[in-house]
Amino acid sequence: MLLSCQNVRKTFGTNLVLDDLSLEVDEHEVVALIGASGSGKSTLLRCVNLLTGIDDGVIRLDGEDITDPRADPDLVRRRIGMVFQSYNLFPHMTVLRNVTLAPDKVHKRAAAEIRDQAMEWLSRVGLADKADSYPDRLSGGQQQRVAIVRALVNNPRLLLLDEVTSALDPELVGEVLTMIRGLKDDGMTMVLATHEMGFARQVADRVVFLDGGRIIEAGPPSQVLGDPVEPRTRQFLARII
Ligand code: ADP
Ligand code: MG
Repeated sequence: MLLSCQNVRKTFGTNLVLDDLSLEVDEHEVVALIGASGSGKSTLLRCVNLLTGIDDGVIRLDGEDITDPRADPDLVRRRIGMVFQSYNLFPHMTVLRNVTLAPDKVHKRAAAEIRDQAMEWLSRVGLADKADSYPDRLSGGQQQRVAIVRALVNNPRLLLLDEVTSALDPELVGEVLTMIRGLKDDGMTMVLATHEMGFARQVADRVVFLDGGRIIEAGPPSQVLGDPVEPRTRQFLARII
């Protein structure tokens, strides 16, 4: 097991956002988090990446308690890549600079090695010819793919994707989903929040339905999306489809 969240509790003031939530993710597994807006998907991902602290429970990565106050968040984040809905590339930097910036700072690896790896990733996703372009020359889909490459250049053990297609025009969603499917084929472990049920069905090994910060139902996509057991899952799916 690569990631283990045990009895995680998270509040914002009086708002209980993650309610005794437990989730385990195996290496090479892809887990899709679904649920209404406000159900806690982003908060869970942010807790795993130590962008926000938890009130109770334990989160382990490779067996190590990363929520231990003595854990170094920078060291933990080197092993986790995270991509957000808004891709947030630096507009005044080329694509190559954007994807090599963070590893430069964090890893202190040889610049040439980082550059080679970045170019390899850009080639694999068909963006090598954009390396010297500025983000505003790229489509939204291309920018989001660059943002995903940026998260991969650190060689993360785990990739967290938070609604990475939500800000895209519909015709640009496909290329990002194709890239993520490719990462799955490469064996990348991923936890992704999505409201694209078709995509969850295609890429996820397991779909987890959250409501009010609790896991209501989890299982293979065919079961959770196709034949849900819980009334709340059924209601949710009926509303969005
Ligand atoms: P989702 O991603 O499923 O839409 P979120 O994790 O963003 O849900 O939000 C879950 C709940 O936590 C919501 O009620 C939201 O208002 C609240 N919340 C999220 N982030 C914060 C924050 N930084 N401060 C206060 N409340 C927050
Ligand atoms: Mg969210």
